[in-house]
Amino acid sequence: MKLVILERDGTINYDGADFITSAEDWTPLPGALDAIARLNHAGFHVVIATNQPGLGRGLFDVVTLNAIHAKMHKMLAAVGARVDAVFYCPHSPEEHCLCRKPLPGLFEQIGERYGMDLQGVAACGDNADHLLAGAAAGCAPHWVRTGSVAASFSHAVPEGYPPGTVAHADLGAFADALIARAAP
Ligand SMILES: [Zn+2]
Repeated sequence: MKLVILERDGTINYDGADFITSAEDWTPLPGALDAIARLNHAGFHVVIATNQPGLGRGLFDVVTLNAIHAKMHKMLAAVGARVDAVFYCPHSPEEHCLCRKPLPGLFEQIGERYGMDLQGVAACGDNADHLLAGAAAGCAPHWVRTGSVAASFSHAVPEGYPPGTVAHADLGAFADALIARAAP
């Protein structure tokens, strides 16, 4: 099975200074939804792995998170795209859980759910935590320069990212590169 594991905030949608705490706050980045559609059409299943510490901090609840994701799924469907599932860590850093990235717990959950080894599966995100978690689970790290981290860097992958991290301008560029590589 062809699988891609994406970060959410800063990769698919705009990542503001504050947490995304309502569906109104959730706005896709230019081209991101179409990028997921192209991945789907090329045979990739797409899932999300995201830290949502705002839950643990009580800034929003699961009902609100579900509403945010309902908006996302609806907007994806409108362009013929689909995200299979959203795996999220609901904990604050103080809870010292095993699923908060950069620990690989969410990725391990994904591997278990799909019954597959994640070796070589593309993990794509805008921040080091997503890529470190993915790499720890065997994934290939892909960085997109669309999040808050990117503002201070040009093309080079910043320090502290896993070895072999490949940089892309945005999710569209990542999707095109992955699809080209996977083509027969
Ligand atoms: Zn957690």
